[in-house]
Amino acid sequence: MANILVYALHYNGAINKNSLGAVSEGARLAAELGGEAHAILLGENVPEALAASLGDYGAAKVLVAEGPEGLAQPLVDAMAAAISGGGYKYALFGGGLLGFEIGAGLAARLGAGVAMEVTSVRAEGGELIAERPILGDSAISEISYRSEVGIVIGRLNAFEAKATGAGPAPVEKLSFELSAHASKAKMVTRGEQRGADVDIEGAEILVAGGRGLGKAEGFELCHELASAFGNNAAVAATRAVVDAGWYPYAAQIGQTGKTVAPKLYLAAGISGAIQHQVGMQSSENIVAINTDSNAPIFEFCDLGIVGDLNKIMPKLTEAVKAKRAG
Ligand SMILES: Cc1cc2nc3c(=O)[nH]c(=O)nc-3n(C[C@H](O)[C@H](O)[C@H](O)COP(=O)(O)OP(=O)(O)OC[C@H]3O[C@@H](n4cnc5c(N)ncnc54)[C@H](O)[C@@H]3O)c2cc1C
Repeated sequence: MANILVYALHYNGAINKNSLGAVSEGARLAAELGGEAHAILLGENVPEALAASLGDYGAAKVLVAEGPEGLAQPLVDAMAAAISGGGYKYALFGGGLLGFEIGAGLAARLGAGVAMEVTSVRAEGGELIAERPILGDSAISEISYRSEVGIVIGRLNAFEAKATGAGPAPVEKLSFELSAHASKAKMVTRGEQRGADVDIEGAEILVAGGRGLGKAEGFELCHELASAFGNNAAVAATRAVVDAGWYPYAAQIGQTGKTVAPKLYLAAGISGAIQHQVGMQSSENIVAINTDSNAPIFEFCDLGIVGDLNKIMPKLTEAVKAKRAG
C-alpha cells in the first residue's frame, strides 16, 4: 500500500506552518498513489485535539508517540517503528533543520533513499518523483527511488498548507522503543532566532541583504542603514543568505519566504532572481546596489547603483542620518 507518513512538528500547542504544508502535500500525493497520508507527532502529553486537527489538512489518521519533543533521534525511533510496522512507502518532511536531521537519520536507519531540499513532487506510475534544484538553483534534478521506502525532505515552505475542512482525523497511540542513544540529548532551552520578532511585512522601509554582503557580519551594514531610517525600517534577506545561516529565515523575502510591498525596498548585493523578485516587486520604490551592471535586479528597480556596497552603504547611512538630523 502506497501510504505516506508525514512528520508534523508542534510547539506551544500549535502545529508548525511548514508541517501543515507537508501534510497537505502528503495528502495530495497519497490520493494520486491510491493510498493515505498519515501524520505523526511526538511529544509529552500531546493534546488529542491538536493531533486530530491535522485531519483538516488531509491526514487520514494521526499517530501520536510519547517522548521528548523537538529532538531528532526519538523521532527517528518512532518513525522507524511506524514504517517497519508496514504500510508506508514514503516518509515526507516539510524541511527545516529538524526535518533534515530526522529524515537523514531515518534514511540511515532504514537503508532508504533520501532527497533533500525538494521543491516539487509528483506521482507517476504509482511512484513518487521528487524535484530538487541543483547547481545554485540553475537546474532541476529529478529523483526516483529504488529503495523499499523513499524519504522526501522539502525545502522550507516549499509545500502550501491547504485546509480542506475535512474535520478531525482519528488519533492512534504509537508504541515504540526509545534507543539508548536517543535519550542522551536533552532539550535545555528553546528560543526564537534574532530578527524573528521584527514585523517585516509591516515595515515601510526594508533594507534587504544578499550574498553580495560577503558574510554574516555584512548584515551590520543593513542594520546600520535601517536604524538610521528609524522605527519604520527593518532588515530583510534573500534565500541564499538565510540558507547559508547568515540571517534568520523569518526575514526571507520571495517565493518561499514573505511577500512585502514597502514604500522603499533597498536591495544590497542581491542579484534579483525571479524567486526573490516575486516577493518584493510590488514595493513602491526599489533601489538596488550591485557591482554587476548586468545583474537582473537592474531590469526592474527604480534606481540602480552600480558599485561596491561596502563603500556605498556607509555613505548612504551617514547621508540619511544627516538628513534626519537636519
Ligand atoms: C523553488 C525555489 C524557491 C526559491 N525561493 C526563494 C525565495 O523565496 N527568496 C529568495 O531570495 N530566493 C529564492 N530562491 C533562490 C533564488 O533562485 C536565488 O538563488 C537567490 O535569490 C539568490 O540570492 P542572492 O541575490 O543573495 O545571491 P546571488 O544570486 O549570489 O547574488 C549576489 C549578488 O551580489 C552582487 N555583489 C557581490 N559583491 C558585491 C558587492 N561588494 N557590492 C554590491 N554587490 C555585490 C553580485 O554581483 C550578485 O548579483 C529560490 C529558488 C528556488 C529554485
